[in-house]
Amino acid sequence: MSKEIQRNPTRSVRVGSAMIGREHDIPVQTMTATHTQEIEETLSQIADMLGAGADIVRVACDNKKDARALAEIRKETDANLVVDLQENYRLVTEVAPSVDKVRYNPGHLYHVEKNKPVRDKVAFIASVAGENDCALRVGVNCGSVDPAYKEKYPDDGIEAMVRCAVDHCAYLDDIDFTRYVVSLKDSEPEKVVRANRLFAEERPDVPLHLGVTEAGLPPDGIIKTRIAFDQLITVGIGDTIRVSLTLPNDRKAEEVEAGHKIIEDIRAGRIRAVPEHWGEGLNIIACPSCSRVENMAFIDLAKEVTEMTAYANEHDLTIAVMGCRVNGPGETDDADLGLWCGPRTVNLKRKDEPLGAYTYDEVLGRLREELDKLIAAKA
Ligand code: SF4
Repeated sequence: MSKEIQRNPTRSVRVGSAMIGREHDIPVQTMTATHTQEIEETLSQIADMLGAGADIVRVACDNKKDARALAEIRKETDANLVVDLQENYRLVTEVAPSVDKVRYNPGHLYHVEKNKPVRDKVAFIASVAGENDCALRVGVNCGSVDPAYKEKYPDDGIEAMVRCAVDHCAYLDDIDFTRYVVSLKDSEPEKVVRANRLFAEERPDVPLHLGVTEAGLPPDGIIKTRIAFDQLITVGIGDTIRVSLTLPNDRKAEEVEAGHKIIEDIRAGRIRAVPEHWGEGLNIIACPSCSRVENMAFIDLAKEVTEMTAYANEHDLTIAVMGCRVNGPGETDDADLGLWCGPRTVNLKRKDEPLGAYTYDEVLGRLREELDKLIAAKA
């Protein structure tokens, strides 16, 4: 990063051979979308990503078999690896020896050992990370905010995310674990900007990992991401980035290229002006896919949804398309219409109301019916 952009005074956090923080260039991250247990495919995708300039690569790991595959992957690559813990935070003991950073989502910690204080769970994760020379990321996501914070801030999702992140920083600070970064992700660029600004005002010392989650297909997904990053990085907020794009496996490295291009443009002063009415009208959000995708037809489905719904471009509606049952049900709740993929069927929802499961061939027709109904109701 050039010196002309004033960075927030964030501390340095080492992730393997990559450094995150004010004193360092902004590392570009990405995530594999192959099945982690398919070791050769995963290694090949990691190699593609490194070839495109990835500084840090995240790998999904949901169970002990994935953890064993991850240990094999670790032996074969020098990549700086990250793993994200889903609901079973105790899996950290299995995965930390194979990676350089562990991401946990505060919104997932309540699932197991419900009576154990969150603070104790965080202390456990941090102690295992410390023993294994791992950094941590506190990854707060709009679609899976800790219910306790949702309850406390029912009308302000951004405040709920920020308060949760700040509290988790305090849990880590209290046990003198400072090797952590924070992310606050949303699918709307403006919310990403607001959340990160609020957090950075309060904790300018904590490095921020920026991302617009479920940005969707390129080029729209890149534009959404760029809009958020332009407004944050130019004012010194953001120490590492990921561009999340819905892409087939053989093109996942394009996320990394997009990330480098955005940083290069900001460095050169090529900042996107946001037209007054940008972001109005139909908004399609789609997850970037990862090893949890239930059926690779998801990528085509996201594309077909975008094409089929183009007739409704002027309507202020959000359609979310998600690749799996892990995050799909929750992350579609706020959309006007949501689709999340199973192995053979796609689940359709209106807000949080399930409308049924349909084959991949049927679901577009059903989606159109529901979209027409919403448009008619608004008219
Ligand atoms: S919704 Fe599921 S498939 Fe998509 S990125 Fe999230 S975990 Fe992966």
